[in-house]
Amino acid sequence: MTLPRDPPIVFARPFIGSEEIDDVVETLKSGWLVSGPRVARFEELFAQTVGTRHAVAVSSCTAALHVSLLALGVGAGDEVITTPITYCATAHSIVHAGARPVFVDVEPDTGNIDPDAIEAAISPRSAAIMPVHLAGRPCHMDRITAIADRHGLALIEDAAQAIGACFHGRAAGSLGAAGCFSLYATKTVTTAEGGMVVTDDRELAEKVRLYSRHGLSEDTWTRSAGTGYRHQHALVPGFKFTMTEVGAALGIRQLGRLQEEVGRRAEISNRYDATLSQLPIDIPAAIPDGITHARQLYSPQLHTEAVAPTRDELLDRLLGLGVGTGVHFAPIHLHPYYRQAFGHRRGELPAAERFGERTFSLPLSRGLSREDIEDVGAAVGVALR
Ligand SMILES: *Cc1c(COP(=O)(O)O)cnc(C)c1O
Repeated sequence: MTLPRDPPIVFARPFIGSEEIDDVVETLKSGWLVSGPRVARFEELFAQTVGTRHAVAVSSCTAALHVSLLALGVGAGDEVITTPITYCATAHSIVHAGARPVFVDVEPDTGNIDPDAIEAAISPRSAAIMPVHLAGRPCHMDRITAIADRHGLALIEDAAQAIGACFHGRAAGSLGAAGCFSLYATKTVTTAEGGMVVTDDRELAEKVRLYSRHGLSEDTWTRSAGTGYRHQHALVPGFKFTMTEVGAALGIRQLGRLQEEVGRRAEISNRYDATLSQLPIDIPAAIPDGITHARQLYSPQLHTEAVAPTRDELLDRLLGLGVGTGVHFAPIHLHPYYRQAFGHRRGELPAAERFGERTFSLPLSRGLSREDIEDVGAAVGVALR
């Protein structure tokens, strides 16, 4: 054991192999940098991987969520039921679409949205449900799809953390009207910045494409494949949310490493479980049969009532010991903007608030060595003393 670690153990380090580097260089030499054959190929592979008919590459998961809402016709006057235990982009996308986020409480052990709380929050203005598969653990999608169907609500999965996750044989992100993935630098599969919308609905896929390509009738690649000049016309005031060829070249290679990545992440998580279960900490909830957890994050919960240091003191001590850490997440309804704009107050969502005070995340990337994993475990023990 060597603590403090110097240089520190990085919280999330992307794995970029020499294949990725070669493919990026080749892409740069190809002379075609955006919306070309690599993006088309990456979309095809992505759809195959999650088992949907269509996949549309975009510039981020934030963009994916935003255009999915627009393409599904969610806007002013509508409510979207979602979880407060998520990255702020989930809620922001709802606000960007002109709708109102309705935050409901979560399960205390997983931090995932509570299906009973969704049901209780349905109003005549409800238009959509946006669950988040926190840390890569699928939500109760059987119950959530049933609620969406029964009430005629659109279901948009924030699968930003869930590539590689499975719910009874179906990929997380493939279970609703649209699934949105993040390909950001710290995610399991990365294009540096990037996102993907998946769906079985051809018309919806076309609308997503339209909204993310300025609202123009055809993209550049499709156009160049035809004969003769064709004009493009703006059908809606869309956005510029395209993926680059460089990003797609990275993504194609990264997607090929998915199973290996998820396996390695599970291994590291199991080692952390073994060490942390000896401490006043709740390790992540057990995984039921039929569920594959994608292990985007390793986030246990501190028994705050049983130990002297607060969760935030624990974070500071871990950083002092050279161990990267983070909080996933502090509840969104208590962020200043959401308090001010929607009048939220502490006490509204007790399970989410308690989760937000107890959760902390430890380094998780496939490059961690046995010694790194041991040092992280030891550092948590030292920090709690
Ligand atoms: C990372 C993340 C996002 C945002 O993804 P970007 O690709 O960075 O826009 C949204 N929701 C959740 C749950 C995330 O973890």
